[in-house]
Amino acid sequence: MAEQPLMNTYGRLPIAFESGEGCWLFDTDGNKYFDTFTGIAVCGLGHTNPAVTRAIRNQAGRLVHCSNLYHIPLQAQLGQELCNLSGMDNVFFSNSGAEANEAAIKIAKRYGHQKGIDSPSIIVMDNAFHGRTMATLTASGNSKIQAGFEPLLSGFIRVPFNDIQSIEDVAKSNPSVVAVLIEPIQGEGGLSIAEQQYMTSLRALCDQNDWLLMLDEVQTGNGRTGTYFAYSGYNIVPDVVTTAKGLGNGFPIGACLAKGKAAEVFSPGAHGSTFGGNPLACAAALAVIDQIKTEKLAQRATELGNKIQQILKDNLESASYVTDIRGKGLMIAVELDTPSPELVPLAKAAGLLINITSEKVIRLLPALTMTDEEASFLAESIVKIIKLYAADDRKKAR
Ligand SMILES: *Cc1c(COP(=O)(O)O)cnc(C)c1O
Repeated sequence: MAEQPLMNTYGRLPIAFESGEGCWLFDTDGNKYFDTFTGIAVCGLGHTNPAVTRAIRNQAGRLVHCSNLYHIPLQAQLGQELCNLSGMDNVFFSNSGAEANEAAIKIAKRYGHQKGIDSPSIIVMDNAFHGRTMATLTASGNSKIQAGFEPLLSGFIRVPFNDIQSIEDVAKSNPSVVAVLIEPIQGEGGLSIAEQQYMTSLRALCDQNDWLLMLDEVQTGNGRTGTYFAYSGYNIVPDVVTTAKGLGNGFPIGACLAKGKAAEVFSPGAHGSTFGGNPLACAAALAVIDQIKTEKLAQRATELGNKIQQILKDNLESASYVTDIRGKGLMIAVELDTPSPELVPLAKAAGLLINITSEKVIRLLPALTMTDEEASFLAESIVKIIKLYAADDRKKAR
């Protein structure tokens, strides 16, 4: 039996937090920690961001929820902001990333049916992560998280990431394809970055075949990679884009945005959500967007990210146990030569909260609002911990 009446779905560290401020979290024993991944790219504006807290407080005293059976002015306002930022035409609001992707998947399927394709399929990538609902789990390219949940859904075709030829091959052999769903930078899947040429060719291929290009920007969106959405950095425009994580800075909200023909797929009754886009969630997200715009936080993500990568490269590039340092804006990976789960408790003991994805990739997703000093502190702390770990590890190996 677990010690708490909670389902056994998470491996948790023995630590609980009581409060937070900016890059810092404080545990129940009064210890202070630097958070290098902000609740997995959620608190992009830092913990308890004052403007977001104020917006939530004010709205909570006015109206929390009223259902989508009525007009919600804040939802329309947030939709307009997101359309202005993205170049999309309209939005569906959900409460999470997986639900935003469910909306995208449903748009693709219905788009197929409207074109007369009875059994539409969606091309998805190796090592993708799109969520834990049955459709998004099926779309994800990770057999570990799928194991035990078969039968998965049909209608997904998997190809290697950054490999345009394999998609061209599918185009030739499979007339049921209606869309491609892809993360511009794979977050959970080890921080693989789509190449510029690949994204350009993918956009062209989708146009030639009348497929929807659907980008999962649940993690890369909201300024993190240097532009509001990562695709702007690639100079392409998708037909559908989803986001969530950083959108509410901790208040749950997700969005599925669509353009052109994809924006016309849904009609009343085709999709819905009880909570999605309620006044409280929209007030939080409006405060987030306002700050990203006025404080130019996307630009700031590029500056801070370059600074952090520079320090990491100067100090770690020659180390044999570091195989790669890469990233875009404040989405940075330090890839190690072996799976290194022991790094997490080691960092924690040194007052640093880190995340390791794909077993050997330290994934940095810090707050876009941090100071230059905090960025240096983060990078230098990571260097110190990796060196300490490597020294320890080599000692053990001898
Ligand atoms: C986290 C994540 C999801 C799932 O979001 P949830 O809010 O956990 O449902 C989907 N796609 C990507 C790229 C993510 O990083």
